[in-house]
Amino acid sequence: MKNLVINCGSSSVKYQLFDMATEKVLTQGLVERIGIPGSGIKHTKTGMDTLARVIDFPTHNEAVKYVLNLLIDPIYGVIKSFDEISAVGHRIVHGGESLIKPTLVTEEVINKLEKLIPLAPLHNPGHLQGIFAIMDILPNVPNVIVMDTAFHQTMPPKAYIYGIDYKYYEENQIRKYGFHGTSHEYVSKRAGQILGKPFESLKIISCHLGNGSSLTAVKNGECIDTSMGLSPLEGIVMGTRSGDICPGVILFLMRQLRDVELVSDALQKKGGLLGISGISSDLRDIEIAAQKGNKRALLAQEKLIYCIQKYIGAYTVAMEGVDVIIFTAGIGENGVDFRKEVCAKLECLGVKIDVDKNNCRGKEVIISTPDSKVTVMVIPTNEELTIARETLQCMEEQK
Ligand code: AMP
Repeated sequence: MKNLVINCGSSSVKYQLFDMATEKVLTQGLVERIGIPGSGIKHTKTGMDTLARVIDFPTHNEAVKYVLNLLIDPIYGVIKSFDEISAVGHRIVHGGESLIKPTLVTEEVINKLEKLIPLAPLHNPGHLQGIFAIMDILPNVPNVIVMDTAFHQTMPPKAYIYGIDYKYYEENQIRKYGFHGTSHEYVSKRAGQILGKPFESLKIISCHLGNGSSLTAVKNGECIDTSMGLSPLEGIVMGTRSGDICPGVILFLMRQLRDVELVSDALQKKGGLLGISGISSDLRDIEIAAQKGNKRALLAQEKLIYCIQKYIGAYTVAMEGVDVIIFTAGIGENGVDFRKEVCAKLECLGVKIDVDKNNCRGKEVIISTPDSKVTVMVIPTNEELTIARETLQCMEEQK
C-alpha cells in the first residue's frame, strides 16, 4: 500500500510517496515557481542523486501531471502503475472550524474549502489546485485532507477568542486557529513514546522553530493554547513575519502606506528577523553577523530568544506546570547554541541542560540532565509521515 503526500503552495508542489508497510519514503520532490518564469522540478528517488530540471509549468495541473509521470518513469520512478497509489493525502493549512479531522474529499468538502479561502487567501487556493489536479489525473484514487489547524481545535474559547466585537467571531469566524498542528501532534506523541509515558498524562510545550515558528501547550494529550492565530502571523517573531504586534502598529502602517498589500508585505515578508536585522531571515546568517558585532543582528537574535522564553513561561502557568519541552524544525533541531541560550533563562522552572547532549543536530535526543525538573528534548518533526498515516487511518475508517 502506497500513499502519496502532496503539499501545494500558491506556486509550489512538494510531494513524498510512502510505502505504508514500512513507512519508508520511496521518492520525494519539489516543483517551484509554478506560473512564474523559471519554474522547475527537483526529484529524488531514495538512494539516487537528485534530478533537477527546468521546465515550464503554467499551472498546478501540469506540475502534478509531470510528478505523477516521474513516479512511473522506468529510471526515476518507483512504481509500475498508478494503481499502486492507494490514496493521496493533502496538507491543508486552514480548515477553519468546519474541517477538524482528516477527511475524505467530496464535493461538499471542496465547497467548505472554497468557503474558507477568505481565512487563508495565500494557502487554500493552492491546496484546491492540487486536489483538482489529482482528481483530474487520477480520478479513481481517493483524496484525503489533513489540516494544520486540526490539532488546535481542542483549545478552550478563552484561548481562541479575540478581544473584539463577538459578531466578528459569529459572522466571520475571526478567532485564533493555530498552525503547524501536524508537527506539534507528531512530536508530542513521539515524546510520550520515547519517555515511555502516556501522551495523555503529560504537560508538554512543543516549540516548532523554523522559518515559520509556533509554540503549543499540550495538556493531557490536547492542545490548550498555541502561539499562531487567525493566520500564521501571530506569535513569536519569525524569519520574515512580525509575530505579536500592537494593533496600533497596523493602523499606523495603513495610514502611512495606504495600501493593504504593502502593509501585508511589511508584516509578512519584510518583518521578523529580516526586518529587525536588515541582514537575513535565516538564523544562521544572523548568528554569524551577531558574533561579528552587528548590533541589529544581535537584537534580532535576542528578540527571538526572549519571545520563546516568554511563551514558555506563559504556557507553564496556563498548564499549571510543564513536564516536557520539545525543540523541533530547522532552528529547534539544529540550533545548538540557540537552544542553550533559550534554556539558560528557564533555570527558574528547574530546567537543566546537559551541554554535551545538547551538542546534537537533527536527531532524537533528551538534552536535559537526569535531575532536571523538566525533560527537554530535540525531536525532528515529520509532517509528511503524519499526513500519510492519517490518510491511511481515514481510508480504513471508510471501510
Ligand atoms: P525550516 O523552516 O524548518 O526548514 O527551518 C529553516 C530555518 O532553520 C532556517 O531559516 C535557519 O534559520 C534555521 N537553521 C537551520 N540550521 C540551523 C543551525 N545549524 N543553526 C541555527 N539555525 C538553523
